[in-house]
Amino acid sequence: MPIASQGFPVAITFDLDAETMWTGGKPERAEMPITMSQGRYGPKVAMGRILDLLDREGIKATFFTPGAVIEAHPAVIEEMLKRGHELAHHSHTHPWLPKLSEAEEREEMEKGIAAIKKASGKAPAGYRSPHGEFGLATMGLIHEYGFGYSSNFFDDDSPYLHERDGKKTKLVELPYAWSLDDAPYFLFSAHHFGRVVQTPDAVLGVWKAEFDGLYAEDRMFMLVMHPQIIGRPSRMKMLERLIAYIRKHPNLWFARCDEIADALRPRL
Ligand SMILES: [Zn+2]
Repeated sequence: MPIASQGFPVAITFDLDAETMWTGGKPERAEMPITMSQGRYGPKVAMGRILDLLDREGIKATFFTPGAVIEAHPAVIEEMLKRGHELAHHSHTHPWLPKLSEAEEREEMEKGIAAIKKASGKAPAGYRSPHGEFGLATMGLIHEYGFGYSSNFFDDDSPYLHERDGKKTKLVELPYAWSLDDAPYFLFSAHHFGRVVQTPDAVLGVWKAEFDGLYAEDRMFMLVMHPQIIGRPSRMKMLERLIAYIRKHPNLWFARCDEIADALRPRL
């Protein structure tokens, strides 16, 4: 049986961190105007390019967005929702969760949910943690708040159901991988000297090869990007070329994470 009756799932996702990519866990950076401007590039410039590309391609995407970003950039969020994309949970202030107490984690969870409900009129279906790690309370909170899916873990290439107390739950995991994230290749700042920025062609090569393998095994393609990183013109062209390459394959299903999770849940 193929993984999904709709076709091979291709999820185009973005973590719209804006300024919180820099202040999360490091609040002193709020006083660094140039660092903050690097985050602002996402909502200010990159989101326009990204939304236009998605429209041209007829693709609906998922935007994991901290509550504080939703509150700080309401017009961008409104536009994104208007174009049919999914707004999913990505904490409230993008903290390093392992350092938080259970009460602090709960506050991050509740404020993020409240911001999403206010902006979209409904609770988020999905959760992705900030900085790619959980605290001790995170998994319990995801179950408690009734999320339909999590997109966090690296232990598979195919969606699976999370277990709790030895039993399968309805919580779908849509796993990802650092190799399919733009940050390891392109993230650079005054706080990251020593890193090397990759060329768009080098990254396109990795992503095409990843697609080839995942498609051949009928798993899932989960791409994770950050508007402030992928939104440079040269990288947007690369993303366009990647989509064109993917489209050469038959039986594809470009979909939002909530749609993929809902369709796959009964089959897992
Ligand atoms: Zn993030």
